[in-house]
Amino acid sequence: MSGLLYVVATPIGNLEDITYRAVRILAEVEMIAAEDTRHSRKLLDHYAIRTPLISYHEHNEEQRAEQLLDKLQAGHSLALISDAGTPCIADPGFRLVSRCRAAGIEVVAVPGPSALVAALSISGLPTDGFRFVGFVPAKAHARQQFLERYQNESHTVACYETPHRLQKCLADIVAVCGADRPLAIARELTKRHEELFTGSAAEALEHFSAGAVKGELVLLLAPAVQAAPTLTVTESLRQLRADTELSWKEIVRQVAREHNLPGSDVYRESLALRAED
Ligand code: SAM
Repeated sequence: MSGLLYVVATPIGNLEDITYRAVRILAEVEMIAAEDTRHSRKLLDHYAIRTPLISYHEHNEEQRAEQLLDKLQAGHSLALISDAGTPCIADPGFRLVSRCRAAGIEVVAVPGPSALVAALSISGLPTDGFRFVGFVPAKAHARQQFLERYQNESHTVACYETPHRLQKCLADIVAVCGADRPLAIARELTKRHEELFTGSAAEALEHFSAGAVKGELVLLLAPAVQAAPTLTVTESLRQLRADTELSWKEIVRQVAREHNLPGSDVYRESLALRAED
């Protein structure tokens, strides 16, 4: 019998943000794979957990995954943690998880904090849908292209950015998405200097240009305001029917999205056109 791989979420700042189950599992497993063992030791010491730690990070992922797989296949259960939050969310780990799955090893989630979800939950921005796009690219050209790609996104765009690049990133947001684009920046969540900034891109640039920005942050860009559709619902339905190979179901869904209407309304309007087919 193979052991289990537990993917365990750990605090993003405040050490109390860990579940009872996570503490129990971290104490029970044979070994814990962690990004930075010295950093994670502080968390384990806080909970008097004596389980041995082994490093697993982006520079030794490949070779370490072999060793961890051998242990799991020999019947030992392991935990995977990252420096903060939920492993595999913009963190090393997904390759280990996917190799375990391919080898038939059971992978179990032990959920808990994630900076991304914590930021979204307090931002007041729409969360019925959101697009997580990882870290903002470091280089200016790549960053501008990245912003151009997401500037018209109809859902909130969530990303991670480093404090020392925030000002440049905000200047690019003003240039690409406009000075009025609403956004939120959640900084140092659950820590002593926690801050949630909400306002326009221009206001954010002014606010964060006052001095060096410190700490960790999540940047959330409000959805783009969609221009009102110029076609009626029936015209949109007709156009998609003529120009695409989409099924009626997909056409209705797309037109409902474009016109910001319930699918059932658009479905009713589509019935007359379907009869013509
Ligand atoms: N897997 C983690 C999670 O689920 O939260 C995220 C890992 S990612 C490598 C680390 C980034 O998360 C940081 O660079 C920062 O952008 C964000 N982050 C982590 N802790 C944070 C905190 N307390 N407040 C705001 N952002 C945080």
